[in-house]
Amino acid sequence: MSLLVVGSVAYDTIETVQSKVVDALGGSATYISLAASYFTHPVHLVGVVGSDFKKEHIDLLSKKNVDLKGLQIVEEGKTFRWSGRYHKNFNDRDTISTDLNVFETFNPIIPDELKNDDFIMLGNIDPPLQLNVLEQINKPKLTVLDTMNLWINIKKAELLEVLKNIDVLIINDSEAELLTGEANLVKAAKQILNIGMKYLIIKKGAHGAVLFNCDKVFSAPAYPLENLVDPTGAGDTFAGGFLGYLSMQSEINFEVMRKAVVYGSVMASFCCEDFSTSALENLTEEKIRNRFNEFAEIARF
Ligand code: AMP
Repeated sequence: MSLLVVGSVAYDTIETVQSKVVDALGGSATYISLAASYFTHPVHLVGVVGSDFKKEHIDLLSKKNVDLKGLQIVEEGKTFRWSGRYHKNFNDRDTISTDLNVFETFNPIIPDELKNDDFIMLGNIDPPLQLNVLEQINKPKLTVLDTMNLWINIKKAELLEVLKNIDVLIINDSEAELLTGEANLVKAAKQILNIGMKYLIIKKGAHGAVLFNCDKVFSAPAYPLENLVDPTGAGDTFAGGFLGYLSMQSEINFEVMRKAVVYGSVMASFCCEDFSTSALENLTEEKIRNRFNEFAEIARF
């Protein structure tokens, strides 16, 4: 079924203790779309880039059946740049710079032919823009939203408004605490579900993810990764795998969601094995299925 992804498309400069990449392909919509492309076709990406966006990256996305009808290319504009440095533990990172460039005036316009898409992924962008997207589309089957601490800090009222209108929220544990003021994950989850969404996923970085609805909980471990190179985009890749899998199911219920969380975790684990989108570019269905089966074995008792 059709999947619409709205978010950032970026060039990232990333430093780890071992290595550094400059102006590598990144952005929330990029990671989400590439991950989802292994499950469903086409993925419709809505975002913005400048005229410096490289042809090789357009080709890469197109090769993966990511439809770029909704990608605005601003003539003379410069693509969004983000730069971050990881601490030795890979869990903490400092943002060194954020240059919004064309992203500063981004106004997501959903082309008419994409307004009936069944599954909607609102990547991490300004909450009023996320609301604006919801207002443009017609009755989707499922809407999923990602956000970040920045928006909880500076646009909480607007964010709460969007949260009333979605089905699934994906956030990490520190964001859940920031949003609710509650350090206990279960209490925080109850508060967040009370806002109105049906499902909530709280990611715990290297410690997995927990899925909640009003009466059920499912806890998925993270894949025990030995070759951790760059965790940038892991959260977005999780969302892409999660929603990509869901968009191929005839029914959405808690049992199906459990599997989707594991597929999200599988895709996120691949993402961390190389810089930028490199590890997501050459996956196969077999590699994905094998890691899914490994997960099932790790979590079985
Ligand atoms: P994650 O590691 O899941 O937080 O995602 C990192 C990606 O988010 C990078 O590729 C960045 O280009 C992108 N990003 C960083 N800051 C922002 C922002 N303020 N708005 C949108 N995307 C961002």
